[in-house]
Amino acid sequence: MAGFASTTDLADKIVSFDELGPGLYAYTAEGDPNSGIIVGPRGVTVVDAQATPAMAADVQARIATVTKLPVDTIVLSHYHAVRVLGASGYPAHTIIASDVTRDLIAERGQQDMDSEIGRFPRLFRGREGIPGLTWPTATFHERMTLWLGEREAQVIRVGRAHTAGDTVVWMPREKVLFAGDTVEFGATPYCGDAHFTDWPGTIRKLRELGAEKMVPGRGRALMNANEVAEALAGTEAFTSDLFAIARAGAAKGATLAQVFGEAMEKMRPKYGQWVIFDHCMPFNVSRAYDEAQGLDRPRIWTAERDVEMWHALQGSVRSGEIAR
Ligand SMILES: [Zn+2]
Repeated sequence: MAGFASTTDLADKIVSFDELGPGLYAYTAEGDPNSGIIVGPRGVTVVDAQATPAMAADVQARIATVTKLPVDTIVLSHYHAVRVLGASGYPAHTIIASDVTRDLIAERGQQDMDSEIGRFPRLFRGREGIPGLTWPTATFHERMTLWLGEREAQVIRVGRAHTAGDTVVWMPREKVLFAGDTVEFGATPYCGDAHFTDWPGTIRKLRELGAEKMVPGRGRALMNANEVAEALAGTEAFTSDLFAIARAGAAKGATLAQVFGEAMEKMRPKYGQWVIFDHCMPFNVSRAYDEAQGLDRPRIWTAERDVEMWHALQGSVRSGEIAR
C-alpha cells in the first residue's frame, strides 16, 4: 500500500477548462479538487477557491482567456482546506458560505488546515502564501440567490453529506450544477467528516433539480444528463455500500481494524480504480464506524490523529490481525 494519505502523489495533473454554457466553466484537473466559474456582467464568481493563492492564480489565468473581468465573489461549497485556503489569491471582496460552514471553520478550521497540509503535499506546495484561515464575509441559512444581471445563481445548503454545511450552486435556467464534494465522478468520495445517514437524501434532492451538466467536486466536467445521473448514482452507491459494511460490523462488535479490512476487500473491486481510493478509505471507514455507533458529529481530525489512525489501520493489515 502507498504512503500516508496522498504523500506519494506528487506528479502534476493536467488542467481542463471546459465551457458548460454561456459564461459557465469548469476548472478540473484529473481528480484534483475542482472549481466552478460563472462570468457575470460586472465580475466573475468562483465556486471553491482551491488550496493556495498560487493555485488561485492558475484558475484566474484560465478565466483571463475568456473575460477581462475580475473575480469579485467566491462561494465556498464547504470548509475543507483544499477548497477554501486559496481565497486570498482573488481580488474578491465577497466570500459566501452557509452559516453551518462558517461554524465549522470557527470550530475546526485550523485543525483541518494542519491536517490537510499533511495529507496533500502536492496541493499545498505553495502553502507559505496562505495568510491564514478563510473567513466568509456573508453567510446564509438555507439558500440565497445571486443575481448576475439577469442570470440567476441559487446558492443552496442542500443537506448534510460530505460535511454538515454542504452547499451547491444551481443555475436553473442553464440547468448547470456546481456540486461541491456532495457528488464525485471517477474519484473516491471523501467521507472523513461525512453524514452517511443523510447523504442519500441529499443526493435525492440534487437529482430532483434535474441538472443536465455538472461540475462534481473531483473528476471531469459532466456534459449531459446521463453523465450527471451516473455520478449521482455512483456517489450514492459508494457511500451506501460503505455505511452498510460499517453498520453490520458495528452491530456484531467488530473492531475498527476488522471493519476496515472488510471494507477494503469488498469495495476495492468496484471502486479501487477511483482516484484517492487508498487515501480516503482509512478516514472514511473511521467516520462510518463512528456514525454506525451513533456519533452524530464527526470527530475533529488533527495532523496527529490522522497519522495515528493511519498507522494503526495499516499495521493491523500488515500483521494479519484483520480477520479474513
Ligand atoms: Zn471536501
